[in-house]
Amino acid sequence: MYAKVVVDVNAKRVDKLFDYAVPGELEAVIAVGMRVVVPFGPRKIQGYIIELVTGESAKPLKAIHCIQDVTPELNAELIELSAWMQETHIAKRIAVLDVMLPNAVKGKYQKVYRLMADDIPNEVKQLFNKQGIRKIGDCALEEVMTLEPFIATGQVIEDIDVSQQQRIKMQKAVTLSGDIDRALAMLRTDKQKSLVELVADRRTITLKELKEMDYSAAVINGVVSKGILKKIEIEETRDPYKDRVFFADDRKVLRPEQEAAYHAIKAAVDAERNDVFLLHGITGSGKTEVYLQAISDVLDKGMTALMLVPEIALTPQMVERFKARFGDEVAVLHSGLSAGERYDEWRKIRSGEARVSVGARSSIFAPFTNLGLIIIDEEHEASYKQADYPRYHARDIAQWRAAYNHCPVILGSATPSLESYARAEKGVYTLLTIKERANQFPVPSVEVINMRDELAAGNRSMFSETLTAAINDRIQKGEQIVLFLNRRGHAQFMLCRDCGYVPQCPNCDISLTYHKVTDDLKCHYCGYKEPKVLTCPNCDSDHIREMGVGTQKVEELIYQHFDGAKVIRMDNDTTSRKGAHERLLTQFKNGEANILLGTQMIAKGLDFPNITLVGVLNADTMLNLPDFRSAERTYQLLTQVAGRAGRAEKEGHVIIQTYNPDHYAIEHAKNNDFSGFYTQEMQFRKVGKYPPYFYLVNLVFSHSEMKRVLLESRHIHDVLLQHLTPGSFVLGPAPCAIGRINNQYRFQIIIKFKAEPELLKALTYLDDYYYEQFVKDKFSLSIDINPQTMM
Ligand code: ADP
Ligand code: ZN
Ligand code: ZN
Repeated sequence: MYAKVVVDVNAKRVDKLFDYAVPGELEAVIAVGMRVVVPFGPRKIQGYIIELVTGESAKPLKAIHCIQDVTPELNAELIELSAWMQETHIAKRIAVLDVMLPNAVKGKYQKVYRLMADDIPNEVKQLFNKQGIRKIGDCALEEVMTLEPFIATGQVIEDIDVSQQQRIKMQKAVTLSGDIDRALAMLRTDKQKSLVELVADRRTITLKELKEMDYSAAVINGVVSKGILKKIEIEETRDPYKDRVFFADDRKVLRPEQEAAYHAIKAAVDAERNDVFLLHGITGSGKTEVYLQAISDVLDKGMTALMLVPEIALTPQMVERFKARFGDEVAVLHSGLSAGERYDEWRKIRSGEARVSVGARSSIFAPFTNLGLIIIDEEHEASYKQADYPRYHARDIAQWRAAYNHCPVILGSATPSLESYARAEKGVYTLLTIKERANQFPVPSVEVINMRDELAAGNRSMFSETLTAAINDRIQKGEQIVLFLNRRGHAQFMLCRDCGYVPQCPNCDISLTYHKVTDDLKCHYCGYKEPKVLTCPNCDSDHIREMGVGTQKVEELIYQHFDGAKVIRMDNDTTSRKGAHERLLTQFKNGEANILLGTQMIAKGLDFPNITLVGVLNADTMLNLPDFRSAERTYQLLTQVAGRAGRAEKEGHVIIQTYNPDHYAIEHAKNNDFSGFYTQEMQFRKVGKYPPYFYLVNLVFSHSEMKRVLLESRHIHDVLLQHLTPGSFVLGPAPCAIGRINNQYRFQIIIKFKAEPELLKALTYLDDYYYEQFVKDKFSLSIDINPQTMM
């Protein structure tokens, strides 16, 4: 028997399957999807078994060194998916397998001494662990000297050990080893009897737990020595939610529009039909309730369900709703978990212990079998596209997996992406619409304030007259307020008031961002840092100041401006610690503050009944970004933020402050008019030849020498023109919006096309060719198909 293996080497040259012989003793246990250690040149590296072939190989093969898993990490579906991604995403197979699997299982390589013989003195043997391994890094000099003669004879060798980063944690436990009635008869003390009864009841119980329940080691050992209990090791699963009580939550009686949507989905679930639904429901329309009921049906059929939400929507509230409905069947996957916790959730899915997952982007690769439904909530979110190599969009992966499993997909949103809505209009997706809020309360009223008028009237503060009055009113009534500061396109920087000088990064074409916490200037692209400047390096003036307002500054201003304000601030600084996000929200929920001030991270998922006012401090900063989606993103964000108000009996009000009150994104957000926005934005996209009318590919290439970049850009341009039909457009080469990062000059070419059968071939050719150039002299080309950002 021999195996076809993908090896863990990140290079184009070896992006193929290698054959290895399967040693006889492994034949019975080895399986497709397992990780193995294989010899590769002089090294030993990790690999994945993609295929097992019975029979002789044509040429002699090196043998697999050992297997690393008892249960394969990858199933047949994921292996096939990785082949498809390799072909269509211009990505190496190993890179694709890497994004699929949790970090904890990725190979870790270390230099070790390995014991090869038994006939050596005990004091030398002692240096090695049970597996006969000693990390070279752990050896003191005299130990190396001790080992030297044995290395010379080959009894000890220098080797590379491949281990997984995160081992499964084991715990000591006890279990019953005999008949319980006989056991009880043998015991005298009540303590011992109660111990045995407890174990009989729980089957296994950890020593740690027993200690917490006041069973002493003496009591336990006494019973063990009688042969009634025995000590075993069990896998510890870290459940990040284990100390929390979730209240059971029953299905709600659906409102008519919810019911119609649910029925359409249920029919597809029952028929195991690979339909794609676009569920367009306003904020608070009860989309989540529809998801929950559909998932419940899937579980009743004995199948599994996968739900994606954006990272920032993975609030405790969302997790709570799932746990309340499905209990231990739910696995939760997000970046707040440690590598070990993530791996445990992953294993729960693989073993079938968890049949539902709620998670962020990469959980689209959760190792379910028998999927009955895939849901992508907030499907318009840019974060579903991985911005770094290998670039993939969770929506595409979802559709592939749904086709493989013959199951439906639900794309849900209050503000669908134009791409998805256009597909629904064409009938490619089935459109389901919910226009009223589930609790039948009206959507909040929205008021737009023109900040130019405020300036003209002499108000130079962050708060318009209207917003000031509304905040004071809510503080007085004991109601809660959400204030939203749009961070994108709103960095803080320094500006000389006399000459207009703005400190720039020396390595990148971008201004430095001022950080109040550390009181210094940083580059967000290359990490460059310098102290805050006190006099202008250009004109020596000392009128150089911080511009732009951060959340911290706004917090100060709120306290100056409003009596009785109590602020909870949520931004990257206050939520970086584990669990901080959740703690702050709980505090707000418990009424410990009346104002929640935050950035993008508070735009989603909050459902608090006492919020009656939402203020958007700066609605339009994003409109100025050089990106064709800036209007769409502005519309989406404003709609989401506004949706936080008036979720219960108390009426909600939204105040949007802007310098562009007439912009159509803001006007339509104000009127909660998606189709108005859609119609207008589609015209703009049509004229500009943007998605959904055209597909885009963004090629960015960079090098430390401008001349080289210009030269290669001509080559790239020519290759593309040769392969494309006249119906497509190749724009550029032109400098990127940020023309230099980390001293690399950056240019881009954008392809706009409708159908190009040869395109993938051309891109693959370029990718291969420039991979070699990168190895040679760091000329880099990155290819982004269907890009979410164009910078
Ligand atoms: P969405 O996901 O569309 O924003 P949710 O599912 O969060 O909406 O629903 C908003 C609120 O309405 C939640 O508090 C939810 O419990 C409640 N809700 C949803 N469906 C119903 C229903 N059929 N009857 C009563 N309340 C409902
Ligand atoms: Zn100056
Ligand atoms: Zn920089």
